Amino acid sequence: MKTMGLSNLYLVEPKQFPDPEADARATAAVDVLHGAKITATLKDALIGTSFVVALSARQRDIGPLIGAPRETVGRLIAEAGQGEVALVFGNETVGLSNDEIMHCHAAVTIPTNPDFSSLNLGSAVQVLSYECRMAAFAERPPTVESRVTPFTSPAATHDEVEGLYSHLETVMTETGFFNPVQPGRLLPKLRRLFGRSRLERDEVNILRGILASTQVKTGYGRKG
Ligand code: SAH
Repeated sequence: MKTMGLSNLYLVEPKQFPDPEADARATAAVDVLHGAKITATLKDALIGTSFVVALSARQRDIGPLIGAPRETVGRLIAEAGQGEVALVFGNETVGLSNDEIMHCHAAVTIPTNPDFSSLNLGSAVQVLSYECRMAAFAERPPTVESRVTPFTSPAATHDEVEGLYSHLETVMTETGFFNPVQPGRLLPKLRRLFGRSRLERDEVNILRGILASTQVKTGYGRKG
């Protein structure tokens, strides 16, 4: 949950807390674990919430209708603008009880292989946390300021790409690969290849550098 930017963890009736093994497994997310609020019942954990979603690996004939993660999380994020919201997960051995599910407004089952539908708790939490992050930042993704030189360069202009095509044609003629008397479909094929890849300026310069060095070796280009 920390990787996806969530931090508000409630643990209902944990077998042991704090727990040195849990601390060790949490590694750099131990702050989230230490900040967890411990309650005796789910009902206590949900005090103050206005929209609560249960995660259930099983279809049940009781409780709220089961929805898909993406739609339900969309609603959860919208509700989060109005009040406190929560995702409720069961433990590894018994999952959520029917009584616990009935404290929730909506339920979600992560679609899986029908013959093997139970994710482990950490994986189920990660899928939902990821959906929360995607929904929360759908319109304005958080940007990380980049201190490195960007790997991409601006798109090559039409005339730069035309320069590459005529350079290619020249070199292919010089090496004998292309016969202008019998051109066939070689040039249109190359145009289609490069047209598909939307060349960047740096890439055109690299390709033309390779062509120029070939010309030097074959005795056509300018040396030095
Ligand atoms: N044996 C338990 C499963 C526990 S898995 C059972 O049969 O219910 C631990 C928790 O992960 C579940 O309680 C649920 O909250 C979540 N989970 C696991 N697989 C899921 C799935 N496919 N969809 C939604 N939640 C899932």
